[in-house]
Order: sequence, then structure tokens, then C-alpha cells
Amino acid sequence: MVGRRQVFVRMAGCNLHCRYCDTPGFCGRQDACRAELFPGWGEFSELANPLRPEQVVAEIDRLSGRGLHSVSLTGGEPLCQSDFVGALARECQSGGQKVYLETNGFSMQRFCTLLDHLDYAAVDLKLPSHQACPAEEWEMLIQNERACLDFAFQAGVYAMAKVVILAETPDREVESACQGLEGLDALVLQPAWGSRIPSRRLLRLHEAACTNLSPEKVMVIPQVHRLLGVL
Ligand code: SF4
Repeated sequence: MVGRRQVFVRMAGCNLHCRYCDTPGFCGRQDACRAELFPGWGEFSELANPLRPEQVVAEIDRLSGRGLHSVSLTGGEPLCQSDFVGALARECQSGGQKVYLETNGFSMQRFCTLLDHLDYAAVDLKLPSHQACPAEEWEMLIQNERACLDFAFQAGVYAMAKVVILAETPDREVESACQGLEGLDALVLQPAWGSRIPSRRLLRLHEAACTNLSPEKVMVIPQVHRLLGVL
């Protein structure tokens, strides 16, 4: 959530293989994880995996400060560990923290089990050119992603779609991804980290997204934590 203070909980493991992935090292099981020692210090202690939800909540509480907006449950892919994520989200909510889930939306069934404990849901819309999965599985993936957004919207969870863009992303893919999403609260076009996309291309892709969505809802936002050098 841009400009707001969050605690990030990054889950290991992901079932997709996006060509632009910035966390490929998180795609397998990890024997240990890191927890920042003090908020914003960039120094970490190592903890043995797997952790219990209560242990993670204790770390979150320790790192939360005045002005915390939400706890971001991100990855890797949180839905790969949906039982754990559900338990964690429930604990956070009962402790008064807002929960922000970032997901690739590969399973609407798993996503729906979390809905009661979410305040915000940011769901990726993977484009065919992202090569996130074998071509014959893409239709199923995008249907699940769209369904997650729909269920979030219907449940009163703030629903945001994220489309990562690369220099070679075709306009028609962005335009078609943005069809039928009128219920969304926001759509973010996010230039992939390290890709050089000229402003005129960004504007064209923004126009393509606005073909079907109100300009009020469409934003171009880089990976701000990377720009700030945070985590
Ligand atoms: S869904 Fe996210 S974590 Fe998984 S491969 Fe794609 S970019 Fe990486």
C-alpha cells in the first residue's frame, strides 16, 4: 500500500514461474527465515522454519509501530500455505491489525477461505506474455484471478488488481485483462523492476487500461519498497 507503513511477512514457495519474478529464491522450502531486528534497520536475526502463527504474530507486534497501516502477507505465494496464512490473518485481525493479502490468485477456493480475515486484497492478473505457467493452463489461472477479485469485492474487501508490465507487454493484453473488472477498487500497472519502459509506452498502456476502467481507479506505481531500498 503505497506511502503507508506496513509490516511485510514474506511466505516462501510459489507455484508459478513468471519471467520477471523478483523473488525466485523464495520458490522452494526454506530451512530458516529472517526477521528484522528493529524496524527499518535492515539487520536480521535467523529463525528456524517452520514457525507457528503465534511466533510470527509476536514478530509482527515487535515490528509494528505507531502509524502502522496493515500487515502485508506476501510471497512467494501466500495461497500455497493458505491454512497457515488464514491462522495468521485471524490472529492479526483479533489483535486489531488490518490485513493486506498480495496473491497471484491461482486458487479462488483457497482465497475464499481467507476472505473473512482480509481487509485488502491485491490480486495479480497474469498476462500470457508473463509466461507464469504453461500456455494451456493460463485460461484457468486468469479465471481464478478474476474470481478472487470478484469474491473480494462482493465480501466488502478492498479489491485491487495488479498487472506487471514489461517493455514488450502488448497493449492488447493489458486492454483485455482490464475487461469486466468494473467492480474493482483499483488497478495498478507496475513496471517490472529493472525494465526500462519509456514514458510514452507507460501512457499508452495506461490508456489501454482506461478503455474499460474509470481513470479514477487506474494507477502506474513502481515497486516503491525497492526504490526506497526497504527490504
Ligand atoms: S507469482 Fe510472484 S512469486 Fe510467484 S513466480 Fe510470479 S512473481 Fe514470482
